Amino acid sequence: MASAIGILDLQGDVIEHIAHFESIGVSTRRVKAPADLSGLSGLVIPGGESTCLWRLLRLFELDRAIADAVGQQKIKVWGTCAGAILLATRIRNEPAKLGLLDIEVARNAFGSQLDSFHSRALIPKISDREVPLTFIRAPKILQAGKDVEVLLAVDDYIAMVESTAALATIFHPEMTPCLAFHRYFARKCGVQRSGTDRV
Ligand code: GLN
Repeated sequence: MASAIGILDLQGDVIEHIAHFESIGVSTRRVKAPADLSGLSGLVIPGGESTCLWRLLRLFELDRAIADAVGQQKIKVWGTCAGAILLATRIRNEPAKLGLLDIEVARNAFGSQLDSFHSRALIPKISDREVPLTFIRAPKILQAGKDVEVLLAVDDYIAMVESTAALATIFHPEMTPCLAFHRYFARKCGVQRSGTDRV
């Protein structure tokens, strides 16, 4: 069984995701080129800036390689914030990018960087306790398609969804001490954990 999760290493929250997976005994590999995807069970597309990430994804020819690997069910993918934008099949007022998850998103929908905020929520599939959420110039998920499960909806927006192939969060679990989201994605990918879990 393949046992590592890739972290797209072009821009954004790379080391924070690696540290979280290491804390739960999951091996990671930095992904900078198509060959780096080989044998992985999952891929995290981290938060950062989706326009920048999209330019780099195309420059390094990772756009097609990721779409193929997910389409052929070789890997599962988790997009956090900018990563969720890249996964969406519809982006308000601009063309879709990877288009691997049937959701509509609106970028920067909470306002400017200064409108970033923390909150907490109960997400039963993730934990039986409230988990911390950090939103940084986040998008809103406005709609989810019929094969997409909504894991967290708040007020007028959706904050977390999943399909068979993909997971998307508009907030940043890698920026809080909570490891529950990384455990959940590792389980979704069928990745084995070694050693003792550090909480
Ligand atoms: N505002 C960014 C974008 O539109 C996303 C921010 C983030 O990933 N924290 O790409």
